[in-house]
Formats: sequence, structure tokens, C-alpha cells
Amino acid sequence: MKNNWEIVIGLEIHVQLNTVSKIFSGSSTGFGAKPNSQASIIDLGYPGVLPVLNQSVIEKAIKFGLATNAKISRKTIFSRKNYFYPDLPKGYQISQLELPIVQEGYVEININEDIKKIRITRAHLEEDAGKSIHEGSLGKSKIDLNRAGTPLLEIVSEPDMRSAAEASSYMKYVHLLVTYLGICDGNLQEGSLRCDANVSVKPRESKKLGTRTEIKNLNSFRFIEKAIEIEAQRQIEILESGGTIIQETRLFDEEKQETRPMRSKEEANDYRYFPDPDLLPVVISEDLIESIQQSMPELPNQKKMRFINEYQLDKNDAARIAHDFDLATFFESSINHSKHASPKQLANWLLGKLSNMVNEKNINFSKLELDPFDVSSIVDLYILGNLSQKQAGELLEYKHGSEASIEDLIAEHKMSQISDTHELSNLVDKILIENKVQFDEYKSGNDKVIGYLIGKVLQASKGQANPKVVKEIIERK
Ligand code: ADP
Ligand code: MG
Repeated sequence: MKNNWEIVIGLEIHVQLNTVSKIFSGSSTGFGAKPNSQASIIDLGYPGVLPVLNQSVIEKAIKFGLATNAKISRKTIFSRKNYFYPDLPKGYQISQLELPIVQEGYVEININEDIKKIRITRAHLEEDAGKSIHEGSLGKSKIDLNRAGTPLLEIVSEPDMRSAAEASSYMKYVHLLVTYLGICDGNLQEGSLRCDANVSVKPRESKKLGTRTEIKNLNSFRFIEKAIEIEAQRQIEILESGGTIIQETRLFDEEKQETRPMRSKEEANDYRYFPDPDLLPVVISEDLIESIQQSMPELPNQKKMRFINEYQLDKNDAARIAHDFDLATFFESSINHSKHASPKQLANWLLGKLSNMVNEKNINFSKLELDPFDVSSIVDLYILGNLSQKQAGELLEYKHGSEASIEDLIAEHKMSQISDTHELSNLVDKILIENKVQFDEYKSGNDKVIGYLIGKVLQASKGQANPKVVKEIIERK
């Protein structure tokens, strides 16, 4: 992209709250049930039925507000947002306009080496709509209302992001936060977190924001980045050829790699919002907020700081571990089990070999078929010099999903590291003869050559020789 343009992005993220029942009815929120088996007369908006607020959505929203340094409204109200759509049988969505439950918060995200503050304008509660299904129905559309009435927390950011990468980092951080808080299952494939991206561009030096478009319903980090880049590029091309941007809602087409118009932008007053007469204002007590405050878990950035202070990890390693809840849990549990490895050494193994294993298997740390106890035992054997680094890595692979004990696997694969000085001494002699030139160089004072010689011995031993012992022998000779 041309450097004189700056992209401006604000996100509206819809987080599905992980309640057992819906926001205003007792229907189940479970995913994947037979179509329309989880829609009650309240979700369908039958005349005369009354919604009843599910208290746990209030608690979950407050948790989010406290975690984002926000103001929690002491009085919050629900409003009707009126529009017609086949998957909204009531003809309105219950949402919040005035007095949303959470206002004026912020989060801090890591951008390269810097920390950037992204302000949150508001987070409000609302019900989800049903789903229209157009595929495979021979020219007809089907409607599944199981999702109607599922609780959502809509988190609206200020237009504080300046690149597609920043937007996806922010979305990742919100995803991390709601999973840490335990208020959302975080399952992107099932649509538990969806985002609308508002995108505009402006000349870099200009203070005034450009006209924005809103790209609807992005449900993966990769799509968010791609859609924003493509949309910004489209806007720049229009502006550079003298055109103007129309404020509208657009859809991202992944196959065609383009965004295209969906509808012209509606304003709040198009929806004829008004307070829902069936729902009383909710008064939030200091006691409730206080008790939720007491039960707050440690947050990702707090965990990161603790890892730095308590375990002397460097900033990047601490962030990488703390920003993956399952990995962080695994890490602390392996520290507890380990007898010889330092937290720093364990962190290296978890971020190196084990992260590779997790990525190759396309799983996360909680699904690893190795427990922290196995990992710390194997790393301990490496630290003690009983296994080479290569062998320890292989042993982790063998142990994955295996019932066999570590001792049995070591025996089966004839793995123990050769630390026997006599045996190694013979091998070293052989290598020094074969590499006479380098050995002479070493003897004449070029210390660096020793690495080469050690490498040759390790190679000849198929990685089984203990490098420390080999080094000592060469030095002696
Ligand atoms: P609406 O309710 O009509 O969608 P809001 O005022 O609530 O409008 O804003 C929605 C989102 O658009 C917010 O996340 C906000 O940060 C973002 N936004 C507002 N103006 C711009 C702009 N010029 N460029 C990019 N994003 C913007
Ligand atoms: Mg919007």
C-alpha cells in the first residue's frame, strides 16, 4: 500500500456468552442440536409471553468490564431494536442503546515490541438472531431458530487501530481475555466470537477520519486481516482516482478475495429503538460488583508480569506463554514437577520442541498426550546429562500417547547418553586422528575449533555422547 495513506479501524466484536440457557428464556444454548429444537415461545416472540433476564449474563458482562478497566453502569436498561428479517421472528432484537452495562474501558495489546492501548467505547448485552440456511435447499431458504436468544456481549472499540495486523492482534487479545475470564468458550469455528470491522483511510498527516465502511461477520483472525487489507486498498484506489467512499455495509467474499456491498448504512434512528416495556431496568449493587471483583482470575498481562518477576523469564517468552492459557497452565505445572530444570529451561523446551509438536499435530497444550510430569522428567534427564538434547526431543515424541514408562522407552530405543569416559576416550582418539588438521590448529591456540571437534564426536556417536564429557576429554588430550 502507498505509504501516504493511513488505515483506521474500529471493531465491533460479538462474544457469545457461555450460559447454559438463553438470555431471556430457559431454552438451551447448546450447539449442534436438531434445527428448531431449542426455540421456545419466548425466543419466537409469541404474543403475550414475557422475557425473563438470565442473571448470569449480567455477571459475565461485569467480569469483562472489570477486566478492561471500564465503568460498570449501576443502572442498565434493555431496548428494542426494530427491524425485519426472516431469522428474527419478533420483528425486533432486544439489545442496549442507552445505559449499556459496560462503558469506557481499554485493553493493552503487544504490537511488535510496543504496548498499545485500544479504547473500548462500550460493551452491551443483546440477544442473537436465528440462522437462515440457503445452501442445499433447492432454491428455498430454511430457518433454524436455535440460536435466537443466545446471549451476546457486543464490544465496541474506538477507531484506535491503524493496520490490519493491529486489528487482528486486538481481536486475539479479546479472544484470550474472554477465555481467561471463562465467559465464552472461544470456539471460533462455531461462531462464538464474530466481528464487524469498520474501516476507513485518510492521508497520514490528516487529523480528520475518512468515511468508513463496515465489513460484517468476520469469524477468523486471518479473515479479519485479509478483509481489512482488501477493503482499505479498494478505498484508496477510489480516492486516488477522485471518487468518494459511500458509507455502507459490506461482505467479505473469501473465494473472490473482495468485499462487496450488502446494504446502505442504517442509522440508530432507523431502528426506532425504545426501552423494552417487558424488562425492568437492572440495578447493579456495589455488593455484586465487589463479589465479582473478588472472584476475578489472574489476567493475561498480570500473568506475564508474574512470570517475569517470579521465574525471571524475558519479556517475550513470558508474553508468549501467558498469552496461551493452556500453555501457561502446562508451564506452571511442569515447574512444580521438575527437580533439576529451571523455569527458564522449561520455558525453552515448551516454546521450542513442544510448541513444534503442538503445531504439527494441530492441537493445543491441553490436548497434548504428554503430561507436565513426563515433560519435566525428560527435561530433568537432559539437564543431568543422561540424555542428549536430541535424545530428549525424540523421547518426548515417543512418550506422546504412549503408556510405556520413560525408563522402558529409554531402554527400548537404547537411548542413554554415553558419559562413560573410557568408551568416549576411544571415540575421541579416533576422531582426533581423522581430523588432524583441526586438532593441530586447536593445539596451536585456536580455541574455537573445539566446537567442530565436539560436533564430529557427537555425530560419530549418533548424538549419544555427552558433550560436556567430550569437551573435557579433548581439552585433556
Ligand atoms: P454504528 O452503531 O452505526 O455501527 P458506531 O458509532 O457505534 O456506529 O461505530 C461503530 C464502530 O465504527 C466503532 O467501533 C467505531 O470505532 C468505528 N468507527 C467510527 N468511525 C470510524 C472511522 N471513520 N473509521 C473507522 N472506524 C470508525
Ligand atoms: Mg455497527
